[in-house]
Amino acid sequence: MFDLEGKKALITGASGGIGKEIAKVLIEHNAEVCISGRNHEELNALKKSLGKKCHVVTCDLSKKDEIIELIKKADEFMGYIDILVNNAGITKDNIFLRMSENEWEDVLNVNLNSTFNILKLITKGMVKRKYGRIINISSVVGVTGGAGQVNYSASKAGLIGLTKSLSQEIATRNITVNCIAPGFIETPMTEKLDDKRKDAILNSIPMNRIGKPKDLSSAIIFLASQESSYITGQTLHINGGLYMN
Ligand code: NAD
Repeated sequence: MFDLEGKKALITGASGGIGKEIAKVLIEHNAEVCISGRNHEELNALKKSLGKKCHVVTCDLSKKDEIIELIKKADEFMGYIDILVNNAGITKDNIFLRMSENEWEDVLNVNLNSTFNILKLITKGMVKRKYGRIINISSVVGVTGGAGQVNYSASKAGLIGLTKSLSQEIATRNITVNCIAPGFIETPMTEKLDDKRKDAILNSIPMNRIGKPKDLSSAIIFLASQESSYITGQTLHINGGLYMN
């Protein structure tokens, strides 16, 4: 079940905690994978463990010209892209009254604008080939909001709106567009939170544990597979019960 043989996937933010797991699980299910991120050494180390069906392209997603290069190189390696996981993301938390324009713009650029720019370059090909699986990694705070995260939660809510709208435009072409909204997952992104904040979050998770990147794997594979063909425009919350839709 969920065999991705012959499918070609691009993952952004693949050197991060969740991105590495996504790359690994897509390879395990026989997809050919192009991993992208900013850290060349980390990506190359990951490629070593993933083998010949994995290609590396470094790219700073805040720069449009680098995104154009990314898609060009991914096409050179694989021919085309039929699974896209928009996973890269950053936080620059601050209370609203102190948040700078740069903190707002940087987060919106990497988390939301880059997704628009990537989609502009690959959606036409998916429409022509009449096949595509697009998975956007949002966040629980894209739905609940979060104090100190006006920029981040706006970017993640934006991804949910983008997902719903785009999914309606291209649904007849056998292209699905969905979001995964993780709760609190153990990765370098959440490592930087102080212990008090981590304890508060832990206490509000009914399963009483912080998630691991592996907790997202089966959902990624399902949404990337042919078998999920009648599911589109959805946001799947994976959070140990932290938020219930
Ligand atoms: P991480 O910090 O481990 O990884 C983030 C990845 O994004 C890295 O590979 C990094 O290189 C890449 N990235 C950042 N800025 C970039 C740029 N300008 N250009 C290219 N790549 C860039 O974080 P993670 O926890 O693995 O997060 C992955 C995704 O999951 C993010 O979108 C994040 O918002 C989302 N998310 C994470 C959690 C969590 O609890 N960890 C919860 C909800 C949503």
